[in-house]
Amino acid sequence: MIPLRPHHALCITFFQGKGYSDRFVENMTEFVASLKGKTLLLVTEPDAVCSACPHLPENCPNAKKYDKLAARLCGVEFDKAVPAEQLFEMVMDKIVLPDKLEQVCGDCEWFSTCSQAAKNHPTP
Ligand code: SF4
Repeated sequence: MIPLRPHHALCITFFQGKGYSDRFVENMTEFVASLKGKTLLLVTEPDAVCSACPHLPENCPNAKKYDKLAARLCGVEFDKAVPAEQLFEMVMDKIVLPDKLEQVCGDCEWFSTCSQAAKNHPTP
């Protein structure tokens, strides 16, 4: 199982090859490509996405808040396993399409980029 912070399912959904550093983008690109068909373990601590973040070890002060909000809206629990595709469907159905992204991470520095991508996201 691959540990993943629940709010990172949103970050992955809107990832457009941009990020905090070249190393971060490279790591994120490889990680996203590795998730197909995998089972995730929902965590609220640094995961593989965080591992290449230049903000570690300070950690993102809002990450735990985003995790809790994303998990609550999706109806998932921490320390539980979920298929990757199912989590991506849940964040789409329960956060993105009902226009609740701002509730989860409206104060993130990438919010304007991700909210624009959410508006352009094709409706299933
Ligand atoms: S706004 Fe920030 S936390 Fe929210 S999906 Fe985008 S990068 Fe992730």
